Amino acid sequence: MRELAAQPGACAINTATLGFQAPLTDVIDAVARAGFGGIAPWRREVEGQDVGAIARRIREAGLKVPGYCRSTYIPATDRAGFLANIEANRRAIADAATLGAASFVMVVGGLPAGSKDIAAARAQVAEGTALLLAHGKAHGVRIALEPLHPVYAADRSCLSLVSEALAICDAIEGKADDPWLGVCLDVYHIWWDPGRGAAIARAGAERRIFGFHVCDWLVPTEDVLNDRGMMGDGVIDVPQIRREAEAAGYTGFIEVEIFSARNWWKRPIGETLAVCRERLVSAT
Ligand code: ZN
Repeated sequence: MRELAAQPGACAINTATLGFQAPLTDVIDAVARAGFGGIAPWRREVEGQDVGAIARRIREAGLKVPGYCRSTYIPATDRAGFLANIEANRRAIADAATLGAASFVMVVGGLPAGSKDIAAARAQVAEGTALLLAHGKAHGVRIALEPLHPVYAADRSCLSLVSEALAICDAIEGKADDPWLGVCLDVYHIWWDPGRGAAIARAGAERRIFGFHVCDWLVPTEDVLNDRGMMGDGVIDVPQIRREAEAAGYTGFIEVEIFSARNWWKRPIGETLAVCRERLVSAT
């Protein structure tokens, strides 16, 4: 496993970790100053802005963009809604290309309003992913499916398992030496899965690990969306999962992504960045 103390450039910050308190330009500078090698901005900070200027600023700060978060949810109640969701994602993929993002991170969505048909939602996800893969290839952007913990199956992601994500990759892209469709592993979502080790090994063997997100699962958790913990503060064996990914061949960024309304989002961003740096070394 890589020694992150010696490789701060392998560490990235997802800007959601910092609570969107400051303008993105300030965040870019702060992340670079803190010694990170990568920054993953969110669409809410990018869309409607001068994306080329943001990309330039990130480059000039010496940072790379491991991933661009996140997709518009795919499942919809009707065909027109589905196609509108695909179109929104096409525009975001174009922005991801401008940013130089290594991948477009797909959080696929859950059940459309009024639906109880999760199989139909999953079918829409598979169809939408195939459409977006073609668009991503045309723009030079890889597509990373991020399975979410099943607690979100209804409203955020009917895709829950790494193994399910790999099945979608296989069905759409088949075996590929240099795949454009892969997975983003987030310890918050996959730590509990008894099939995790085998799925990570397979993802690595297929060269489909496109991203690795870290945080921790607090006990108790007050809010499954916005009460995530700093690495080392919860029950996830983060180093073990990183070991599995790196043993499977993953060499990309280790990206801190912490949604924490009651704690980290209330702290000055310089303090949060310093703690992230320390915990990447001591607890990741
Ligand atoms: Zn994530």
